[in-house]
Amino acid sequence: MAARGQDARARSAHARRKQRTARAAGLARLGVVVVLLVVGAVAAWHVFHGGGAGAAGATSATQGRFGNEGSYEVRISEQAKAFSTPPELVGSLPSATGRNPWRLGAAVLNAVPVTDVVVGAGGSVNAIALTFDDGPSPFTAQVVKTLARYKAHATFFMLGREIKAHPDAVREVLAGGNAIGDHTWSHSDLRRLSVKERRDEIVGTAQQLNTTGSPTPTLVRPPYGSTNPTINRFIRSLGMLPVNWNVDPDDWKVNPVPSVDAIVAGVVDNVKPGSIVLMHDGGGDRTNTVAALPRILAILRNRGIRVVTVPQLLKQSPPGADKLLSSY
Ligand SMILES: [Zn+2]
Repeated sequence: MAARGQDARARSAHARRKQRTARAAGLARLGVVVVLLVVGAVAAWHVFHGGGAGAAGATSATQGRFGNEGSYEVRISEQAKAFSTPPELVGSLPSATGRNPWRLGAAVLNAVPVTDVVVGAGGSVNAIALTFDDGPSPFTAQVVKTLARYKAHATFFMLGREIKAHPDAVREVLAGGNAIGDHTWSHSDLRRLSVKERRDEIVGTAQQLNTTGSPTPTLVRPPYGSTNPTINRFIRSLGMLPVNWNVDPDDWKVNPVPSVDAIVAGVVDNVKPGSIVLMHDGGGDRTNTVAALPRILAILRNRGIRVVTVPQLLKQSPPGADKLLSSY
């Protein structure tokens, strides 16, 4: 009996051990799955925010992919710190009709479904558009001067808080015959905002431009390029068109900061007729962008490529389906 009793105890101890082992194996398998999920999510985030070499390849000029802007913090300028949230909206947005120089016209608007964001113009003209984001800033005047020297015009996607902090720079951009687009008040990811916050960010910026003497913008560039069909439709309901880019010379990168040579090559090696190029005159130290610009403009001029505003480019050659995306 005693032996059988010991046997039974041994058997049940063995069974308990087996159970524990099975439970441990189950937990280990679960752990592996969780780790894989986390690694996958981190990798997806990394690719979305353009952190990896693979992402950089995928965001090259011709593929119409973008989003690289996401991995850097847009620094608030000293003057703009007091204006970090959009003001209470008063009234609605004056519509961009009549004599607005940036009016897009039916041919452009009809070419873009209301759910889509534009990443480039059609290729039927030998012209491109340079865009400068996150300003205005103390670097803006130099950019404007260089553009004028080459009889080129660019589109500045401005932040409301920086417009309020640097109104003179807005007027210099306008006096140079350049276009201004809306880049939200505080560089917020529109996908993370409520409907009211989206309206405040976009309409507040457009109203601040009006206050500064600018026509109402007809273009919105979503910060980080981050958008979706709902946001695109909302921007269209405001009478504006969402526009991203299809050439990114990475001038926003900080670690390491790209050289002047790299920024020049990033533009001139990748542009095609109708390209829209992402550059920055605000959000950080833009010394290298400012230094790259005259070289870029000289090379483009030698190739006979005109540098025009985004509204001009789109009107000259409305985007085909290959220059439209519904989300990013
Ligand atoms: Zn930006």
